[in-house]
This record gives sequence, structure tokens and C-alpha cells, in this order.
Amino acid sequence: MKAEELIKIEDKYGAHNYHPLDVILTKGEGVWVWDVDGNKYLDFLAAYSSVNQGHCHPRIIDAMKAQAEKLTITSRAFRNDQLAHFCKEVCEFTGMEMLLPMNSGAEAVETAIKTVRKWGYTHKNVPLDQAEIITCAENFHGRTTTIVGFSTEELYKKYFGPYPAGFKSVPFGDAEALEAAITDKTVAFMFEPIQAEAGVLIPPTGYLKKVREICTKHNVLMVADEIQTGLGRTGKRFACDYENAKPDIYILGKAISGGVYPVSAVVTKRDIMSVFTPGEHGSTFAGNPLACAVAREALKILVDEKLIENSYELGNYFMDRLRTIDSKHIKEVRGRGLLIGVELHATAGGARRFCEALMDEGMLCKETHENTIRFAPPLVAKKEDIDWAFEKIEKILTTLD
Ligand SMILES: *Cc1c(COP(=O)(O)O)cnc(C)c1O
Repeated sequence: MKAEELIKIEDKYGAHNYHPLDVILTKGEGVWVWDVDGNKYLDFLAAYSSVNQGHCHPRIIDAMKAQAEKLTITSRAFRNDQLAHFCKEVCEFTGMEMLLPMNSGAEAVETAIKTVRKWGYTHKNVPLDQAEIITCAENFHGRTTTIVGFSTEELYKKYFGPYPAGFKSVPFGDAEALEAAITDKTVAFMFEPIQAEAGVLIPPTGYLKKVREICTKHNVLMVADEIQTGLGRTGKRFACDYENAKPDIYILGKAISGGVYPVSAVVTKRDIMSVFTPGEHGSTFAGNPLACAVAREALKILVDEKLIENSYELGNYFMDRLRTIDSKHIKEVRGRGLLIGVELHATAGGARRFCEALMDEGMLCKETHENTIRFAPPLVAKKEDIDWAFEKIEKILTTLD
């Protein structure tokens, strides 16, 4: 079927809750994807950092096929022989003690909310149903009704209320505002160490360390949503590692499965995770053997192929090159590892037209908010891929008026 026809059908029968670039992909391998007309593109979005290991990584696909032929799901009514390994391996990777598996990122965020609330009632004597969680302005934690309720983005929340109470908002990057917002009822501070969706916003140096100190001082749990920034995307295992600020809870998703299957998780310390008793939380698909087998292999690949180190080195190299572009449109280049934002001036006419022009050059990326282009290729990218992309980016940013 022709691309145009597919777009027509999708727009007729599919809900319009996205505004995709009109490229219809049908195949992927490593950093490359192909559309239905056989055109080849470099994927510089990596499904919002889900395919850090590259598209259709052969080891993950093999693990998936092998497990699919053995056992796919048992539900948690019974145990399966993959879950134990998955929990142990992710705990070892993160330096944590216990894991609760879920499927989507938003579900893991919801799980973290339940965890810290119950911890507050049982470990901090917060009066029942009065726990407060502090979040950041311009956060992105997912799309459930509770989560959009504490978003500050009108587009995400305006028509979907009413919303639950118990959330407070402080400016991102402002440790003093965080400390001032803490009360006896505060159970947690939940934040992204780099706000990727808000435009790859990096907090001031020292912020993560201060957050750690403030949370410890006031007995408030530090909850890092590293669904997008974790697992090597920013050039370290976690974005929090840049300041050796270890949170009490990591929320993980996206690349934990290499983008092959929806897998997410909350990992934390034993005394925190121990708040859950049987029946209080769950999900039919969470922790199924297929998910666990896929995620185990995906995690091993990050280590075996040194993708985290690659992200760090190539990210710095790429940012250095991007900063040499002499374009009237560029306001700032910022990032960590291979999570890079190029912010354009308001006069540039929005980032989207640059993404569309890059698509015509064989490069797929996406605007985040109005004026920032995010570059986040799979972490298996090589220097020559970055150089190839750089030529296109420089061309578009210097030739488009
Ligand atoms: C993508 C993302 C989520 C939500 O994950 P879903 O799998 O889309 O539900 C939450 N937090 C952050 C930081 C994300 O990037």
C-alpha cells in the first residue's frame, strides 16, 4: 500500500492524539530505519530513548524468540523462572535492593507514588490520606489521570480533570524552593534529573547533590524518574550519577527492554519496597517471563557493548561539533551524553520545520516543545553516523531561512 493511502486510513480510523512526521516506517536495524518506499533514515529520536541498544538488536530478538517459544506469561498468581533473575540483575545494575516490575513508564510512576505514600503513612506518621509529593514545574511523568493532574502543561491536563490532591509544584533546578515547600506531610520529591520532554533542560551544577542533602535532612524520599535519562542515555548509568546523588527510588522504563517490549520498574531499598503486602498492587502482564527475558538481555548489551561509555564520548564529540555551527537560528546547544537539545531562537519559526527538512535529508528527529530539536540516537551509533548526521544538521541550520 502506498504511503499516502496508509496515512489517509490511519487518520480516518486512528485517534489523532499525536502529530507524527509523515514517514511510514517498516524496518529498523541499529541506528537505521526504512520507510515503506524503501528510503533509509538515521533515527535520531530512538523512540524517545527506548531503543538505546539499536533497532532489532539481534541478541534481544533472539532472546525474545527463544522465550516466546517456551513460555510467555504466567501472571503473578504463579512464579516464573525469569523474574528472579530480572529483579536481581536490575538491582545489581542500579545498586538497589528490590524491584517491582510494571509495563509502561506511567505505570511505574504510579507505582512509585503508591510506594512513597504508603511509606509516609507507615514510616513517617503522616496522617492517613494527607501525604504530599513535591514535583517540578514542566515535568513529564506520563499520561495517566493522576500524573497529568500534577503536570503544569495545559495541553496535557486541561480537559481531563478532576484531579487527586497531594501534589505540590516547585521550579525545576531550584533547591531552595524545594526545601521551602517541604512540610511534615511531605513524603517524596519526584523529579527528572534532566527534563527531556521540556526541552532537554539541565539543572544548575550542584542541584542534584543539594536535592539529596535536603531529602535526607527532612526524611523525604528522593524519587528520580530516569525512564528517559537512565541506562546510559546521558553518558552515565543514570543522570543522577553526574553528581553522585543516589536517589532512594529509581523509576525505569523505555530502554530497560531495548524498546522491544513494554517493561518498566521501580527499584529501591528494601525497607521502602517492603511497604507492599500481597494484593495491594499488581498488573497482569508485569514481570511476565517474555518481558523479563527481553529486559535481561537488553541490560547485558548496555554493559557488554560499552554503550554507556560510547554515549558519553560520542555525546561530547557531537555537542562540540554542533557548537561550531554558525547559524542565526541557534540559541543554545545543551545536553549530556547522547541526549542533546538544540534550542532555536523564537524567530526561527519553530523547530518542526527543521525536523521536516532533516527528514527530507534522511534524518529523523523531533521537536520538543516549540523551539528545541532533540537529538537522541540509539547508543550503538558510531562516530561516522554522528559525522553523517552533523553534515545534514549543519546544512539545514545554515541554509533554511
Ligand atoms: C516516557 C516517559 C514517561 C512515561 O512512559 P510511558 O511508557 O510513555 O508511559 C515517564 N517519565 C519520563 C521521564 C518519560 O520520558
